[in-house]
Amino acid sequence: MARESKEARRLRVAALLRALHAARPDPRVELDHQGPFQLLIATILSAQCTDARVNEVTKSLFAAYPDAAAFARARRATLEAAIRPTGFFRSKAKSIMECCRALLERYRGEVPRTMEEMTRLAGVGRKTANVVLGAGYGIPSGIVVDTHMARVARRLGLTGQTDPEKIERDLMQVVPQEEWIFFSIAMILHGRYVCQARRPRCGACALNPHCPSNHLESLAAEGRALKAAPRAARKAARPAPRAGPHRPGPHRS
Ligand code: SF4
Repeated sequence: MARESKEARRLRVAALLRALHAARPDPRVELDHQGPFQLLIATILSAQCTDARVNEVTKSLFAAYPDAAAFARARRATLEAAIRPTGFFRSKAKSIMECCRALLERYRGEVPRTMEEMTRLAGVGRKTANVVLGAGYGIPSGIVVDTHMARVARRLGLTGQTDPEKIERDLMQVVPQEEWIFFSIAMILHGRYVCQARRPRCGACALNPHCPSNHLESLAAEGRALKAAPRAARKAARPAPRAGPHRPGPHRS
């Protein structure tokens, strides 16, 4: 793609946002939660884990541990067992307990409302803080950069970076702040269901007219066809299975 002027980029981002709003008028975080505290715990658990798996775990977890005090006084082994299906359960349990102790000591069990305070909590980086501040409190603190956001933003030509903080910085420069919360949720869902890593569905994508990578679906299909071709050729070149021993039939003259 030829280098895009600032004005052209601004107009393209505006068009992207209109298309995203039309495609996903009311996007929601897919982690089940009630309030910022549950969203914080669910987001910590979602590292390297699907939202569906986290939701299965939090159904009973939030009944057993309703608030920061309950997590802070949990028996570590019991908590680890409860969150085990989400993976990395030892470090997640440690982070959750330390985080909840800090919430009790510093914020009377409440989740704080600034990026600075959030990122001082155990297990909380900018990504988690942006999820909780944005979807939990409605505070546009930044843009959530997970693997979906990073991939889609690069495909859309909104960043060339791979480091999440640099990607976030690029996005914050071109996306208006009043759109940050919507943009974070909608783009992540877009990456999860449309602009998928291996099978981008460009033909069904609402952002297609504004995307410099809108040929990726056919490229990916060609790549799969090319991979499949040698397999098919090998199969065709295999000698035919040997016929059984020849048994002459009755001689007819
Ligand atoms: S057109 Fe294709 S590459 Fe571009 S955002 Fe849509 S699915 Fe992704």
